[in-house]
Amino acid sequence: MVQSSSPETTGTLARRGLMFILSSPSGAGKTTIARMLLEHDPQLRNSVSCTTRQPRPGEVDGEHYHFITHEQFDAMVEAGEFLEWATVFGQSYGTPKAQVKAGLKDGVDYMFDIDWQGTQQLYQKLERDVVRVFLLPPSIEELRRRLTGRGTDSAEVIHARMERARSEISHWDGYDYVVVNDDIASCYEEVKKILHAERLRRARQTGLIGFVRELMQPDD
Ligand code: 5GP
Repeated sequence: MVQSSSPETTGTLARRGLMFILSSPSGAGKTTIARMLLEHDPQLRNSVSCTTRQPRPGEVDGEHYHFITHEQFDAMVEAGEFLEWATVFGQSYGTPKAQVKAGLKDGVDYMFDIDWQGTQQLYQKLERDVVRVFLLPPSIEELRRRLTGRGTDSAEVIHARMERARSEISHWDGYDYVVVNDDIASCYEEVKKILHAERLRRARQTGLIGFVRELMQPDD
């Protein structure tokens, strides 16, 4: 009954995958933490969203996003191919259903970089699979420092970034876990612990039933 360690197992037992949503206002280190997790955790895969926005320099189609047209996006909405979708700053973003649904059954965990609207939709649909983590900056001064960049942006641009960050922070109470990112290394450790504990939830460990039954076999 006990299986060897594979992408489908945590430790030893087979389990269902989870949907790990990592959100934060920009400037709170989400991109760095997400990259560290994906690099070091072979059980975790990135959920690649579809978007109608243009690729930024360095972004690769199929890796960072599936870049599609508004017509293609609307057709996918119509065909019910998204788990969730939302309009953010005038562009459409959505999570394709097919890959994630199949992967969860096989014990694959997915990481989502989606906004609070998408988080709510996923939670309403797939509550038992969703783990919602929100990162906060350590202080308003530090947030401003991180959003000021190299000092080349105008006061208006920085003001707009701060406004956007405040509006993102206002959704903090829609998450299961909140981690203050004072230091990247310790924030990473905290987020890893959350992921680890969530993998051990009884309901996710589908291999438990048979295993426990075996442990409870009466002596001959
Ligand atoms: P960006 O254009 O900077 O990559 O992303 C803008 C915003 O859209 C971010 O807050 C990001 O988390 C969110 N986003 C990216 N993909 C999705 C998605 O599939 N669904 C939803 N709801 N939001 C997304």
